[in-house]
Amino acid sequence: MKKIDLRSDTVTLPSPTMREAMLRAELGDDVFGDDPTVNQLQTVAAERFGKEAALLVPSGTMANLVSVLVHCPRGTEAILGDKSHTFIYEGGGIAAFGGVHPHTLPNQEDGTIRLEDIRSAIRVENDHFPRTRLISLENTHNKCSGTPLSPGYIASVSEIAREHRLKLHVDGARIFNAAVAQDLDVSDLVKDVDSVSFCMSKGLAAPVGSVICGTKEFIYEARRIRKALGGGMRQAGVLAAAGLFALGDIVPQIQRDHDNAKKLAKGIAQIPWLHVDHSKVKTNIVYFELADTPLSADKVVARSDKMGVRFLATSARQFRMVTHYGVDTRDIQKTLDVLESIMK
Ligand SMILES: *Cc1c(COP(=O)(O)O)cnc(C)c1O
Repeated sequence: MKKIDLRSDTVTLPSPTMREAMLRAELGDDVFGDDPTVNQLQTVAAERFGKEAALLVPSGTMANLVSVLVHCPRGTEAILGDKSHTFIYEGGGIAAFGGVHPHTLPNQEDGTIRLEDIRSAIRVENDHFPRTRLISLENTHNKCSGTPLSPGYIASVSEIAREHRLKLHVDGARIFNAAVAQDLDVSDLVKDVDSVSFCMSKGLAAPVGSVICGTKEFIYEARRIRKALGGGMRQAGVLAAAGLFALGDIVPQIQRDHDNAKKLAKGIAQIPWLHVDHSKVKTNIVYFELADTPLSADKVVARSDKMGVRFLATSARQFRMVTHYGVDTRDIQKTLDVLESIMK
């Protein structure tokens, strides 16, 4: 029996054609800059994002860490959302390895940070204060229902950054989802941004890797830091080939994941004891809540797992499902059937 795995879009396996592309990739030593497939991926990604240069790194976590380390000297401050991936899920790396002081501000339900909050968080020059260097946004916002940030909002934050000579980074682990949801090119979402990272291993269904894009100068520094962190990879073209394949062949299929997420949310709304605000579902992430029943969220997840459908309990009363390349419309119906039989 096929397990339906909705825990995350990171569970996707490379398709046979993606594996073929990996098998056929021309390779070289990328630490010497000699891997033609890595070089091609970096060129294609930079073009796609409208940036001068790009760099392949092993993970989204390293992509954000490298970016923050380039932008922020030790002892300076980065402004970021209190629900951001970098603040919650990256092991405190920016503080541990960069000596960067995180200044968190409340993420609103739509993943934004209020402009007035950002303005008043920026430090004035004073012996007592760390110096603010960076604002970091997340698009789409994982913990905030996978909501995409609009180009207008990003432009407003960028204006504040320019005014105060700060850098603006976007954690775009799922930025292709943000672009598809708004019928835009990714380049429209990062025009006013100094650096952006995206994951090849989430909705793009590649096995490993993230890419950072920015100016030539920024990427030069990022490459040095990547090496120091142990992220210089040799024949990394096998991974880059999967990324190139994904940019060409998987991105056009992302709309299907969004349609499936909406279907899922609409179905869940019909099931007793489960609550979902399906107007919030704009990309491939569905959060929903368990009403006050004797059944715990963990029990629901365990029962569902036994019936072939896996997803996460994100708190005592909240669940998350993520649609992706490995899930089709029939799987969505089966998931709804399983949930219904558990909740009845
Ligand atoms: C998954 C994710 C990352 C980190 O990616 P890894 O490759 O798992 O290290 C960063 N930011 C966001 C928003 C993510 O969802």
